[in-house]
Amino acid sequence: MSIQFGPDYIRAIAPYQGGKPISEVAREFGLDETKIVKLASNENPLGMPESARKAMANVADAGRYPDGNGFELKAALTAKYGVPAEYITLGNGSNDILELAAHAFVQPGQSVIYAQYSFAVYPLATQAVGGRSLVVPAKDFGHDLDAMIDAIEEDTKLIFVANPNNPTGTFIPGDAIEAFLRRVPSNIVVVLDEAYTEFLPQEQQYDSIAWVAKYPNLLVSRSMSKVYGLAGLRIGYGIAQLGITDLLNRIRQPFNVNSFAQAAAIAALADDEFVSRSAKLNADGYRQLTQVFDELGLQYVPSYGNFVLVKVGEDDGAGARINLALLKQGVIVRPVGNYGLPQWLRITVGLPEENDAFIAALKKALA
Ligand SMILES: *Cc1c(COP(=O)(O)O)cnc(C)c1O
Repeated sequence: MSIQFGPDYIRAIAPYQGGKPISEVAREFGLDETKIVKLASNENPLGMPESARKAMANVADAGRYPDGNGFELKAALTAKYGVPAEYITLGNGSNDILELAAHAFVQPGQSVIYAQYSFAVYPLATQAVGGRSLVVPAKDFGHDLDAMIDAIEEDTKLIFVANPNNPTGTFIPGDAIEAFLRRVPSNIVVVLDEAYTEFLPQEQQYDSIAWVAKYPNLLVSRSMSKVYGLAGLRIGYGIAQLGITDLLNRIRQPFNVNSFAQAAAIAALADDEFVSRSAKLNADGYRQLTQVFDELGLQYVPSYGNFVLVKVGEDDGAGARINLALLKQGVIVRPVGNYGLPQWLRITVGLPEENDAFIAALKKALA
């Protein structure tokens, strides 16, 4: 028998399955890369903002290490959100923040709570540290916060809440989240993962950053990959009081956010026009997609993000089958069988013409 390296809990990890890259689909199906439509990774269909592109071009010298403390980017976040710089942890994507939280707060055998049909990184981050997952059954595809409170055990160290949730797009109003925070014992860290918060309509927006001052166990996580269009640069941030932030900063890599990402993020954070244009494009595209789902009689989960989960058949092979039929037509979406949703596909809202291409391909695939 060959030697087995590492602990069992590492060998048991099923690696993250991302959206297929365009180049891979082109090779695999013999298609022209330029004709492929990718609606698989909740990226901004506008790409990165011009303001960020310019800022990146001005990075003086990538021969030098980046600012490991992200002074200017933290100053930009302080100016925008009124949060003290020492409450901010920068991450190589917000994924980094999620993983740092698991590393900082969970020891092997201790439990972590998250919802069924919630973000795939929560089980991965938990398993990577040998934590024990307590997966709370979803209610209407979203978080059942009461059940998540009931799930708390003696050794629970961390709770992940995604709002809006990915891959289902469900949303919990701010007052319900705060009521939940009041009920969680203060020795348990709550990660409030708000990767899509900027897409929320005005009337649904809530000020989670203000809660950080009140709840020493709250870690708000934000991403620059979605509305800000910087997915390829890998940049996100966490906001929490010192008791949390100090630990995250001890274990993060000293230069976890590169110079280009820092420069681009500063520019993007100031680019309100790009954010509102992106949110509007998304709202219009969401209507475009869901109108067709309604016409076709397809069930979907009302979404607050830049994607929508749609049921493409009644049998457990449906998601994989329709996904393959779409791939052959050069349309990449996200199958969600790995989330326990084999009859569904997650579609990222694209440009109007990309949505049209998807719709045409879907109709053929279903026929
Ligand atoms: C996309 C996403 C993230 C992380 O994205 P990064 O690119 O690492 O910033 C985090 N949480 C949820 C729920 C997401 O959908």
